[in-house]
Amino acid sequence: MLECCNDLFKYLFVYSYFVNSRLTAAGVLDPTLQKEMVLKMVESVECPICLEIAIPPLIQCSKGHFACSVCRPKLDKCGLCRSKFTKARNFAIENIVATMVAKCGYSGCPQVLKISQVREHKEKCGYR
Ligand SMILES: [Zn+2]
Ligand SMILES: [Zn+2]
Ligand SMILES: [Zn+2]
Repeated sequence: MLECCNDLFKYLFVYSYFVNSRLTAAGVLDPTLQKEMVLKMVESVECPICLEIAIPPLIQCSKGHFACSVCRPKLDKCGLCRSKFTKARNFAIENIVATMVAKCGYSGCPQVLKISQVREHKEKCGYR
């Protein structure tokens, strides 16, 4: 496990991290590049408002920024550029989120969940 990613991987496992790790182990992928790629990917699925992993549906503003499904109902305009929200969803980012799993964040809870299931699980988690 990468040192820089310890915090991140406490709650988040990224499928491509494991794919990249195998390439790194095989000497095909430079470890620095691997680190860069994984962090960039995680950054791209963060909601720019709450900085949590964005839970779909991800609605876009007219300039292409998105807000997560928790933040969007609380905003009347885009939090980054103040443009109006459209009805368009960012399916590309939603698909990346669908490849990720996370722990719920309560210590001791062993369950690993799809990102879209984390919120519902947290409400009834026996470890909270
Ligand atoms: Zn958010
Ligand atoms: Zn915007
Ligand atoms: Zn839990």
